[in-house]
Amino acid sequence: MDTTNRRDILRAAVATGGIALAAGAVSARAAARPVTQSPQAQPALPYAQDALAPAISARTVDFHYNKHHKGYFTNLAKLVAGTAWAQSPLEDIILATANKPESRAIFNNAAQAYNHNLYWQSLTPKGSAPSDALMAAITRDFGARAALEAELAKAATGQFGSGWAWLATDGTKLKVIATSNAGTPLTDGMTPLLVIDVWEHAYYLDEQNRRADYVSAIMPLLDWAGASQRFAA
Ligand code: MN
Repeated sequence: MDTTNRRDILRAAVATGGIALAAGAVSARAAARPVTQSPQAQPALPYAQDALAPAISARTVDFHYNKHHKGYFTNLAKLVAGTAWAQSPLEDIILATANKPESRAIFNNAAQAYNHNLYWQSLTPKGSAPSDALMAAITRDFGARAALEAELAKAATGQFGSGWAWLATDGTKLKVIATSNAGTPLTDGMTPLLVIDVWEHAYYLDEQNRRADYVSAIMPLLDWAGASQRFAA
């Protein structure tokens, strides 16, 4: 389905009260969409399952991608089947269901599907460097890339319980934040650039309870080139 048809369907859903969402906001987000999103299809891993070893073992990637991540898509598909959200981008489902108790299951599964999409895209086997534009913003907001990485690692290790550590932009400033459970900066109007999964399933097979070891092991694998593309969008 092309974007126009998707928007028309979403607008129709808004008009009938199916989604409490301004159509203008949909257009603005569509223009800046950072990740290929669909509630129907889990994106392919951007590398082989063993490509992140030894930082993340093939076994962990296998369970994480094929069981946990896939499970959120499976659950979401069941929850939105036959509803106005059946063909909606994940971001639109997330924004329409956030903080609505009656839609909590849909939000949780859509947000977890989205967050994991970005997690796999946030890692790369060889690491990469920020663009000049992103590096300038990093220098402006954190002083140096090492200072940003230290803040990101601190947010990841310090998040109490299950959640995520993010580098995001609000349009004027880069921010490091942590969210609990399925939380995502999208609902605060921010564009996520990088994310680290700190649910125990992300590291328990490899590191057991040693989250700090997992975080320090993956810092060199962060895909700053991908973050730069999302920053440019
Ligand atoms: Mn996970």
